Amino acid sequence: MNTAAMRVVQTVTEARDARRAIRGSVGLVPTMGYLHEGHLALVRRARRENDFVAVSIFVNPTQFGPNEDFAAYPRDMQRDLAMLESEGVGLVFTPGVEQMYPKGFDCAIEPGGITERLEGVVRPGHFRGVATIVAKLFHVIAPTRAYFGQKDAQQARVIQKMVADLDFDLDVVVVPTVREADGLAMSSRNVYLNPEERQAAVVLSKSLRLAEQRVNEGRRDAASIRGEMAGLIAREPLARIDYISIADAASLAELSEVRLPALVSLAVRIGKTRLIDNAVLSASQNGEGLPQVDQHDE
Ligand code: AMP
Repeated sequence: MNTAAMRVVQTVTEARDARRAIRGSVGLVPTMGYLHEGHLALVRRARRENDFVAVSIFVNPTQFGPNEDFAAYPRDMQRDLAMLESEGVGLVFTPGVEQMYPKGFDCAIEPGGITERLEGVVRPGHFRGVATIVAKLFHVIAPTRAYFGQKDAQQARVIQKMVADLDFDLDVVVVPTVREADGLAMSSRNVYLNPEERQAAVVLSKSLRLAEQRVNEGRRDAASIRGEMAGLIAREPLARIDYISIADAASLAELSEVRLPALVSLAVRIGKTRLIDNAVLSASQNGEGLPQVDQHDE
């Protein structure tokens, strides 16, 4: 599989032509580049499950708010392409903004109520931008399966819902979050952290682990668990909480009493960098790579 050279195309026309020449199943991994092991976990899963893997690299302006980091978002195309080539990827689609949003572009996919919570509240228009670009990528590449990270839990739910509601003919596969050894979820934005902030950032996964421990102990009062998480984070001077949520894993509706499976998620600013992380709490699950909370820390 994928012994042929990797093709890199920049235009929709070339991508469509390349797609038409592919036989067998196609796994698509949409990314914004500056790749890390989290992205590669999606690529590897896609390789296992498909005859051919396509990856898109596009920093999508419409999913960034006016005061967000679109211009500063890290980019390194040469490094990304080398990584993808060594993973046996067959096709990389790297359109410019003018390819995806030509002059006069004036349409959007508007996801519904699932965006009225969590990231959707703090980042108005973000999921409209995400859904629109992902819908376009699905139309251009026509994948058999598309791969998304649990790291962006709400994004994965938005895409699953879009695919179901609008009858896209593909399967959405959600891949577990890949973490650094100390528990920090891998993210292209981690490069913004200075060494002190990098250390502080471990507080996100620690607080998730704390929530998980409390639920495993039988606690069900979401407000008090959120309060304990907030208390842990408050002891980290560089951290400022955007939100902490314990929600129904499917609808993302906030819970007052924890019912499993539940999604515990949070957004925290470490210095100027905004980080998100989450964990799914289910009856059978024990932490999915989250580090143990040191009891002396609490
Ligand atoms: P991005 O380039 O940040 O837009 O991410 C592209 C895809 O990789 C999205 O589906 C993300 O959820 C996924 N992803 C990012 N970080 C991780 C991670 N640490 N583990 C697993 N998937 C990830």
